[in-house]
Amino acid sequence: MTDTSADLVILGGGSGGYAAAFRAAELGLSVTLIEKDKLGGTCLHRGCIPTKALLHAAEVADETREAEAVGVKAVFEGIDIAGVNKYKDGIVARLYKGLQGLAKAHKVNLVEGSGTFVGGTTVEVDGTRYTGKNVILATGSYSRTLPGLELGGRIIASEQALSLDYVPKKVVVLGGGVIGVEFASVWASFGVDVTIVEALPRLVPNEDEFASKQLERAFRRRKIAFKTGVKFTGAKQDDNGVSVSLESGETIEADLLLVAVGRGPNSAGHGYEEAGVKIERGFVITDERLRTNLPNVYAVGDIVPGLQLAHRGFQQGIFVAEEIAGQNPRVIDESGIPRVTYSHPEVASVGLTESQAKDKYGSDVTTFTYDLGGNGKSQILKTSGGVKLVKAPDGPVVGVHMVGDRVGELIGEAQLIYSWEAFPEDVAPLIHAHPTQTEALGEAFLALAGKPLHVHS
Ligand SMILES: Cc1cc2nc3c(=O)[nH]c(=O)nc-3n(C[C@H](O)[C@H](O)[C@H](O)COP(=O)(O)OP(=O)(O)OC[C@H]3O[C@@H](n4cnc5c(N)ncnc54)[C@H](O)[C@@H]3O)c2cc1C
Repeated sequence: MTDTSADLVILGGGSGGYAAAFRAAELGLSVTLIEKDKLGGTCLHRGCIPTKALLHAAEVADETREAEAVGVKAVFEGIDIAGVNKYKDGIVARLYKGLQGLAKAHKVNLVEGSGTFVGGTTVEVDGTRYTGKNVILATGSYSRTLPGLELGGRIIASEQALSLDYVPKKVVVLGGGVIGVEFASVWASFGVDVTIVEALPRLVPNEDEFASKQLERAFRRRKIAFKTGVKFTGAKQDDNGVSVSLESGETIEADLLLVAVGRGPNSAGHGYEEAGVKIERGFVITDERLRTNLPNVYAVGDIVPGLQLAHRGFQQGIFVAEEIAGQNPRVIDESGIPRVTYSHPEVASVGLTESQAKDKYGSDVTTFTYDLGGNGKSQILKTSGGVKLVKAPDGPVVGVHMVGDRVGELIGEAQLIYSWEAFPEDVAPLIHAHPTQTEALGEAFLALAGKPLHVHS
């Protein structure tokens, strides 16, 4: 017999939904988790994990091509896309199996099917109603396109880009944000001729200008073309290719057009609006404790306005589970959520950009940028870039911005520094192992504390 009542009913088994389910189960609550596709959602099956597998294959291709520069004999013969996909799909399959095991171990009642929120605290799946003491809406997001630009054929979104069974010759990437930049990076490493088109004046426009400049410089060196500050006006496709027109009058011919213009909230068609959930521009509106306007109905993940990142979904899921269990967790600080773009080179940041800090604290904000040219490990890895710190006047460091291969791995320390509201003098005495890239962070803090070590003035 189906168990249709629970302490908690969750609609959507992606990063936000399953994190809430596991934490609630740990806290002794009975949980029903409704998922119409695969547990793990976008991140595991169509997002974070498969893209990072492609990026790693891309890194191996680059390293092989450049092996001679470090005295290793290797010949790059090309990309075996079937082999790349097998590697990528194998990782996803293993993690998926692990996640299913975790759901079982947590005794989560996993219901397969498409759910509709029917009001109160009830979700209906194929005629069966599941009522919880509380409900969490966690239906995630979908790849958006532009008005008049229909996805299909040679005009693809990230889902299709992840499952291509060939390496295209030429691609136009519409959108220079995280997803666009990551795919551009992969394809360039695979030998594809790539052009990014971005309407805003710079690549990764949500990052500090320093990061955009560094990334653009690196992409220029990698011969990844990009056109910023230019609007797309249309695309036409036929059997031979796709023709992309820009406001400048220019036309670019390519095999594929990847549309990477952001992700829309998946909030329509699940009964939300009909049940009276407050929705604005498609997003489910919550307060800082992730409560919707309806009693005992919460929302987490990409359907809630803010950064659309898996680890934000995890944290929000954990938060709501603890809230429901009466633990009164601390409100999540959105600017403390680390952001990483896993391109070659990587871009990683936490906290405020320089311009956001100036808006908040005035023009007396100070910054320091440490060039990876002075960092031994970065030189060994043959990467360039830097670490930029943004400091509030007479206050702590409120932003850390990094560019360079593997700097994504440094974001943990940057995040702790940001979250502890550390002053440069607090961090400067901490010893960073030599030679590591973490030293670049250490050096930046030493310099900001007035005692630079490996810094050329
Ligand atoms: C190409 C790409 C790369 C990305 N890379 C990263 C990255 O490196 N790092 C990072 O942090 N984030 C990354 N993201 C973002 C990340 O995937 C999302 O932020 C995250 O998946 C959001 O989790 P969620 O739980 O809100 O939604 P989702 O993961 O989208 O999960 C929602 C789930 O709800 C289910 N669902 C929807 N409607 C119903 C219904 N009516 N009934 C039942 N089930 C339903 C869906 O099937 C889905 O499984 C990437 C995204 C993309 C597209």
